[in-house]
Amino acid sequence: MDTPELLSLNKFNVDEKEPHIKIKKEICAGCTEKPCLVVCPAGLYRLDQDGDISFDHAGCLECGTCRIMCRHKGAIEWQYPRATFGVTYRFG
Ligand code: SF4
Repeated sequence: MDTPELLSLNKFNVDEKEPHIKIKKEICAGCTEKPCLVVCPAGLYRLDQDGDISFDHAGCLECGTCRIMCRHKGAIEWQYPRATFGVTYRFG
C-alpha cells in the first residue's frame, strides 16, 4: 500500500463548528519559507491562486508538525479536536 492508500484507512469525524487548527493568513503572507506546504503529511496546506495559504482541517492527522515547524508566532492556533472529533487511526 502507498501512503495515500494507508491514509484513506483512517476515519475522520470532522468538527465543522470549531476547527482545531486556525491560521492567520495575514501573518502567513509575510512568511517567505512556508514550511507548512511541505511538512504536513496530509498535504492540507496549499497555495491558492493569489499565492496565499489555504488550509482545511478536515483530514488532519493531529501530528503537530505544522505547529512545531512554523516560526511565526500566532500564525497557527493549534489544539486537539474537541471530544469525539478528529482522526481515528486504523492500521491495515
Ligand atoms: S497537525 Fe499534522 S496533519 Fe494536521 S495540519 Fe498540522 S502537519 Fe498537517
